[in-house]
Amino acid sequence: MRIISIRKAIQKSLLPSGETVFAVDAYDGCEIACPYCYQWEDPSWSRVVAVKTNIADALSKEVEQLPQHSIVYLGDRSDPYMLMEKRFQLTRRILQVLCLSRVETVLISKSHNGTIMRDIDIFREFGERLTICIGLSHLVPNRHRVASRLRDMARIANRLKADGLRTVAFLAPFLPGITEIEEVLLALDETTPLAVDGLWVNKGGRAAARTLSYVRAWWPELMPMYEGIMENGPESQMSRLRQQYRGNHRVGFLRSAIGGETRVLSGLIPQAEKQPHKKGQWREG
Ligand code: SF4
Repeated sequence: MRIISIRKAIQKSLLPSGETVFAVDAYDGCEIACPYCYQWEDPSWSRVVAVKTNIADALSKEVEQLPQHSIVYLGDRSDPYMLMEKRFQLTRRILQVLCLSRVETVLISKSHNGTIMRDIDIFREFGERLTICIGLSHLVPNRHRVASRLRDMARIANRLKADGLRTVAFLAPFLPGITEIEEVLLALDETTPLAVDGLWVNKGGRAAARTLSYVRAWWPELMPMYEGIMENGPESQMSRLRQQYRGNHRVGFLRSAIGGETRVLSGLIPQAEKQPHKKGQWREG
C-alpha cells in the first residue's frame, strides 16, 4: 500500500463494452484481485493499492462541473469497501460529497467484510439517487469456499434491499459450473433483483490468462469449457441462460443482444429500477 495525493478525482473510464463513464475511486489497485477483472489489461494496475488521501477535497472542487444528469461510478479501479476503508474512510467522504451535490451515483462492491454497512446512513440520504450493486462472483482461492462467499455477498445484498435501498445483486461474470444461478436465487430474497452478465475478457489478455489459471487450479474438469469461452466468447452460454430465465421476474441481463446492440450496466441499472416493479422485478429497459 502507498499513500498518494491526486490532482483529479473524477476520471473517465472506458468500460469493456466501449462505453465511457465517470468514475471516482478512493483507491487505485484492488486487494480482491478477481482473476477476470478487466483492469488487469492495464499494466500499471495491480493488487498493490494506492490510497488517494485528498480525493474528497479534490472531488468537492470538481463535482459542480459535471454535466447535468451525469452518473458517477464508485468501484471501477478498486473495491470501495476493502478492509483499508475502515481506517481511511475515503469512500464515506466521497459519498458525502456526491450526496450533498445530488449526483446520481452507482456504487459497486464485492467486499464481504461488512464495512459497507457503516455507510447506511448516507445511503438513506441519497434515496433514489444511489444504486448499490453487490457482486456475487467473489472468487476465493479455494473451491470449497466459493459458495459460502457467494452466500455472504447475497446476505449483504438482502440486508441493503430490506432496508429500502435501491440494491441489485449482480453475477458478473456468470461462471458456469462455479457460480450457478439457481444457487444464487436460493441465497437471495425474492425482493432482491439479480443482474447477470457473461465472462467477457480479451482473448489472450491478462484477465483471460488469470481466469484460466484459476480454473485450472480449482476446477480442472471445467478447463475445456472455459477454454471454449475464451476462444469464442460467452454468448452461447448467455443465450442459453436468457432462454432459461425468460419471464423470470427475479433475473435480468446486463447485456442483451437487441438488434445487434449491447445494453450494459451503466444504462440499465438505474433505468430498470426506476420503472414500476413488483417483488424486486427486474425489467430490461
Ligand atoms: S473487486 Fe472489482 S476492481 Fe476489485 S479486482 Fe474485483 S472486479 Fe476488479
